[in-house]
Amino acid sequence: MSAQPHVHDHDAPDGLVSVEDARQRVLDGIQPLAPLRLALTEAHGCVTAEDIVATIDLPEFASSAMDGFAVRASDVAGATPAEPRELAIVGRALIGHEPEGTVGAGEAMRIATGAPVPAGADVIVPIENAVVEGEEVVRLLDGPTPGTHVRPRGEDVREGDVLVPAGKRLGAPELGLLAIAGHATPLVHPRPRVVVLSTGDELIPPTESPEFGQIRDSNSSMIFGALRETGAIPVMAGIVRDDVQSLRETVFSFEIQADAFVSSGGVSVGERDVVKAAFFRRGEVEFTKVAMQPGMPQGFGHVEGKPYFGLPGNPVSVFVSLEVFVRPAILKMMGRGHLGRPEVTATLTEEVRGPRGKLQFARVEVRREREGWVATPTGARGSNLISTVARANGLAMIPQGTDVAPAGAKVKVMLFRASED
Ligand code: AMP
Ligand code: MG
Repeated sequence: MSAQPHVHDHDAPDGLVSVEDARQRVLDGIQPLAPLRLALTEAHGCVTAEDIVATIDLPEFASSAMDGFAVRASDVAGATPAEPRELAIVGRALIGHEPEGTVGAGEAMRIATGAPVPAGADVIVPIENAVVEGEEVVRLLDGPTPGTHVRPRGEDVREGDVLVPAGKRLGAPELGLLAIAGHATPLVHPRPRVVVLSTGDELIPPTESPEFGQIRDSNSSMIFGALRETGAIPVMAGIVRDDVQSLRETVFSFEIQADAFVSSGGVSVGERDVVKAAFFRRGEVEFTKVAMQPGMPQGFGHVEGKPYFGLPGNPVSVFVSLEVFVRPAILKMMGRGHLGRPEVTATLTEEVRGPRGKLQFARVEVRREREGWVATPTGARGSNLISTVARANGLAMIPQGTDVAPAGAKVKVMLFRASED
């Protein structure tokens, strides 16, 4: 078999669009959200929209690294316990305050760790090397070279240095750096607010008990989780009946607070395919058959200028669609440069059968063994059961053109959980 999951239109059976092309079409229709100034706690996890440049030196003032005396190095040069130097105590340099004065020749100022070094002094003699005589005189037993125990101004950052370059995601260290440098509202791409809705006359909320034939809405919760994990802010719009008017009304009522929409169900060819009926004819959303399994029918377009993802109804198809289309698109909206999941090449422990004409995303549990990565399928062929996803940590990509990937075959696997989860 070929280990390459990449497929092209000319390989696809009639009417099917390759996964690569379908994803590219989606990404071509997505722009990063316009940047905003956000408070640091809100900006956490967001990507910077400009180089953030230091407007000050850091630290902003020279400070003492020890408790002791701030003096002139020339006044204590050569001092030893046998030959100490006597200096006059001229005050105190406290943390958080301007020093009480300057240090002249023959003078010493008491100083605490972190306190600004007074003008005139260029070295700190630690308290261990000082003997105080009354209130006014100190004998210093050491003569360190200039700069000793002084944390110089600008040691960390120089005015004009780039603190955080454009395109970087703000993590914990960046927040700390920006805070100390006084950039309290960095310019970032905000998190998209994504409206989540489930279509279907058979659906009820997970809090209710189904009558015969009813199904608890699985997709809204799953889409919520996927969006959160991607960094977006999901907005739950709930269940919408298979009724064109209701769907359009719900979508438009949420439009004002939405950066994008994700719905599930109602995109195939049945008479109840409400998403298609609501948005296709006006050219808002395009419906595509993608050469993938699961997840063949996909709708994507723009409603009122906001990206709209019309995912299929089956929960496993929804999960795969989230990974293949929605997650990369949301990351692009957030200004992220790298849109893919980590991938490994793994050895299948069991055979996987798939539809020849489509790229199959098989749910697998991958683990690292001494001889390399191995992948065990979590469900039988074509299984459309959500528990196969819950047990998996990867999607093995069985390329188009392969109907059987035998045990022992090497396959590419996209990892959708951190290994420690
Ligand atoms: P549809 O594309 O709307 O015909 O849905 C395909 C299949 O997925 C049907 O069996 C639906 O009952 C099921 N389905 C659709 N939406 C959901 C949902 N939100 N939660 C669970 N199953 C769903
Ligand atoms: Mg439906």
